Amino acid sequence: MTASRIDGTGIARQLRAELAGRAAHLASLGHRPGLAVILVGDDPASAVYVRNKVKACEEAGIRSLLETCPADLPESELLARIAALNADPTIHGILVQMPLPKHIAAAKVIEAISAAKDVDGYSVESAGRLVAGLPGFRPCTPWGCMKLIESTGIDLRGKHAVVIGRSNTVGKPMALMLLQADATVTICHSRTPDLGAHTRTADVVVAAVGRRDTLTGDMVKPGAVVIDVGMNRNDAGKLCGDVDFASVAEVASAVTPVPGGVGPMTIAMLLANTVESAERAASVAGHL
Ligand code: NAP
Repeated sequence: MTASRIDGTGIARQLRAELAGRAAHLASLGHRPGLAVILVGDDPASAVYVRNKVKACEEAGIRSLLETCPADLPESELLARIAALNADPTIHGILVQMPLPKHIAAAKVIEAISAAKDVDGYSVESAGRLVAGLPGFRPCTPWGCMKLIESTGIDLRGKHAVVIGRSNTVGKPMALMLLQADATVTICHSRTPDLGAHTRTADVVVAAVGRRDTLTGDMVKPGAVVIDVGMNRNDAGKLCGDVDFASVAEVASAVTPVPGGVGPMTIAMLLANTVESAERAASVAGHL
């Protein structure tokens, strides 16, 4: 193995400690950051994600308000709940755990969250702000990837970055953030012929596909930085990413493991957005 392993767990821990300091300062000014998390239904994976988010909030001194609702909750009730949280000055971020039951329109729910509290960064306003290069909440996973890339010390200006995947929550915002950092960006997807022809010319590859072994060592340029967003299961049922870690680590200069790479950063960036939102509120109130 020649690549260094990018320690997402350690970087996220350090970030959470910094955020805890900022949260404590805000609390001393009467603006303790608050995050509302809404879980509709009893999907076991969603319950685990929500639990981890609530626990991370508590550890960082952020107040978390967990609301669990039955799977048959009417859409109108969810929208009314969001409206109440939008108006609550002690809540600085609102997160509705996806996926939602089929009778609820996710897009409607996302747009119901006030842009000032959209700490997931999924709303059309947040996406538009990212496109326009304006300040706003950045989607947590790709923003966490940017922090991991920065941690390697690579100067992205003029570098070729390839993003595999074009979802609204990961691939597209990832590409925009890399573009904003002055990289030359290529986006690949399921219709891209000869993926390797693109990735072999990349200084940075971000894989956000959801299919293991999408990126193997023979598809990577020597010295490249590789970020693995994927969360899949291997034949033994163990968590794995989109990247074949062993072969890629022989060629790349730095690569994220799964688990212990992007995953911990996603939660850390959610906390970062919540603290930032509370700082804005404190600043508007003239207390910061
Ligand atoms: P998604 O919405 O399913 O998007 C997957 C993307 O991959 C699509 O754009 C798809 O192309 C593309 N794709 C599929 N097969 C491909 C192939 N053979 N070659 C090239 N591109 C291909 O998934 P997502 O929400 O972006 O998530 C991607 C992965 O990241 C999943 O494993 C997910 O679990 C994981 N994830 C992890 C975290 C974390 O915190 N660690 C957070 C979010 C997501 P088309 O658009 O053409 O269909």
